[in-house]
Amino acid sequence: MLGEGIVRGLAETARNFFGSFAEKERLTTVQFPEERRVPFEAARNFPFLVYDGDGKESGLRCVACLICEKECPPRCIHIDKSKDKKPDFVGKAQFYPAAFTIDVSVCMSCQICVEVCPFEAIKMDTAFELSTDDRFAGLLWGKDRLAKSNEHYHAIHPTEAAEVDERRGQEKAAAEAKAKPAAQPAEAR
Ligand code: SF4
Ligand code: SF4
Repeated sequence: MLGEGIVRGLAETARNFFGSFAEKERLTTVQFPEERRVPFEAARNFPFLVYDGDGKESGLRCVACLICEKECPPRCIHIDKSKDKKPDFVGKAQFYPAAFTIDVSVCMSCQICVEVCPFEAIKMDTAFELSTDDRFAGLLWGKDRLAKSNEHYHAIHPTEAAEVDERRGQEKAAAEAKAKPAAQPAEAR
């Protein structure tokens, strides 16, 4: 019948419009900012640096390898490598970022920095209410602003963070097992 598709489309629209008054799952909008939706687990916005434990500085996983800085397509990451080293989660001495800056006015949220990082040190955040009228203080983020705890990572991406913890746990166990045979003869003496 001529126009049948239009009639069916209008009927579907009417069903959803009136249905949204009766069925909550049909509501596709919320009264922002009074109401807020919890972001989906797969949501991503700008990167953050993960730290373990209580040390926002000492617990940073980043070892300043500079891979993300080189791979970032718009080159909005800037890292200054430290002169000294600190132990990482398996006790190996590693460099750390003396400075780590991301210009989020340039970042295109591509997540390439996350994918190339071999140390699970940089992840995507879900925070999105970030407007500011201060170009430098507001959009050029340093370590202070970028560093967020592993608990935060678990809160926003629980599945992914649990997998990362498991992999790191295995790496730590393997490093401890490798270190043991060397320690045993010394203990036996
Ligand atoms: S998300 Fe993409 S653009 Fe943004 S800092 Fe990472 S690599 Fe660069
Ligand atoms: S965030 Fe990862 S890839 Fe980037 S410098 Fe640190 S350890 Fe290297």
